[in-house]
Amino acid sequence: MPIDPEFKSKMQVVEQHEGHPVWGPIEPPSKLGIHGEKVAVDFDICIADGACIDVCPVGVFEWFDTPGHPASEKKADPVNEDQCIFCLACETACPVEAIKVFME
Ligand code: SF4
Repeated sequence: MPIDPEFKSKMQVVEQHEGHPVWGPIEPPSKLGIHGEKVAVDFDICIADGACIDVCPVGVFEWFDTPGHPASEKKADPVNEDQCIFCLACETACPVEAIKVFME
């Protein structure tokens, strides 16, 4: 199931991580919520394919280790989301549709 494009109206910010919000509820290590404000990655969908990291022209994503998570043990974390140029390549490339980019 892809990331819910309406998640901001259904979830709440439960913490900050690397300068971006984490939307929950979360129950680590099995339920990690959604990371990001402009470039949102649903950590509970991410399978660590890495396509987003490969295609992003400005290096928005870095790997973040998530041992014990059922979908994958690392996630593409949007640590540099403020650098996003809204090309949407990551949304298109993600095989599980875990990413939602919010245009300004
Ligand atoms: S929309 Fe483009 S610039 Fe922004 S995070 Fe995705 S691949 Fe990177």
